[in-house]
Amino acid sequence: MSDELERMLTQPQTSAVGSDGGRQPSGVSPHHQRRESPPTTQGGSVQGVVAQEVARADHLLTIDLHKGYRKGSIEVPVLRGVSMSVTRGEFLAIVGQSGSGKSTLLHLLGTLDAPDQGEVYYAGQRIDNLPASARDMLRNRRFGMIFQFYHLLPELNTLENVLAPLMIRHSVWSFLRQRRQLRARAEELLETLGLSHRLKHRPRELSGGEMQRAAIARALVVQPDLLLADEPTGNLDQATGTEIIRILRTLNRQQNLTIVMVTHDRAIANQADRIVRLANGRIED
Ligand code: ADP
Ligand code: MG
Repeated sequence: MSDELERMLTQPQTSAVGSDGGRQPSGVSPHHQRRESPPTTQGGSVQGVVAQEVARADHLLTIDLHKGYRKGSIEVPVLRGVSMSVTRGEFLAIVGQSGSGKSTLLHLLGTLDAPDQGEVYYAGQRIDNLPASARDMLRNRRFGMIFQFYHLLPELNTLENVLAPLMIRHSVWSFLRQRRQLRARAEELLETLGLSHRLKHRPRELSGGEMQRAAIARALVVQPDLLLADEPTGNLDQATGTEIIRILRTLNRQQNLTIVMVTHDRAIANQADRIVRLANGRIED
């Protein structure tokens, strides 16, 4: 199944370079890329290869993203040309005022929503225009996501919540066959996050910090290489928030996990490797 995702991600119709933003060499349109061309000799030009390597060097790259929402007959622009890149293993914080479009941007990065214009690249491959099934698979296998309000399933206990993405990933039989192994992986992760004594608790029986740690375990159980976090400490007291950031930093260092964290809290953002600011629909320099 992992091969299937690999194939989907390397479909020739998904180009490795953008069609604008100044990164697209002339004469190398992704839409005209020939099916038979091996990716390393795209377009047969040196320029094409160089541009592709630039895109590949970034774990995540956006080119000129635009996104607006319609309110009645009025189109309200939120993102107005967001171009940014994240290198592999980087811990990036995106700050911005409430309503500046941080969540909107994170949803585009995670392919939960599509831009009106612009492109998103993951590991050198364009992902914003993938078919829904490929995007689902990408989110289930490569991306981990955590949110301010945890989004745990209330009827499931901690262990079941963490196992849920693995149930989605495997067929029923495959899951049942590997149940013991997968369960061990989930338990080990929960132990690392200090939740061994909360395996059978439902979310309502957990503290905010415990719920967020359970949500982190759920995001990591599929062994993603990119973690997208939307205000992960926004609902926690300062000490618990600091603890969550410490956990993210450890995962980032130990597993070379790329983290993109959105926050409106400067003190939290200061823990990251780099901070970018979203204002007026763009990344400010
Ligand atoms: P942030 O996360 O920085 O607080 P958001 O990305 O959630 O900002 O929202 C940015 C702007 O877009 C806000 O003005 C918000 O009201 C609007 N918005 C977000 N999602 C939607 C939606 N689904 N429909 C209409 N407007 C939306
Ligand atoms: Mg938000």
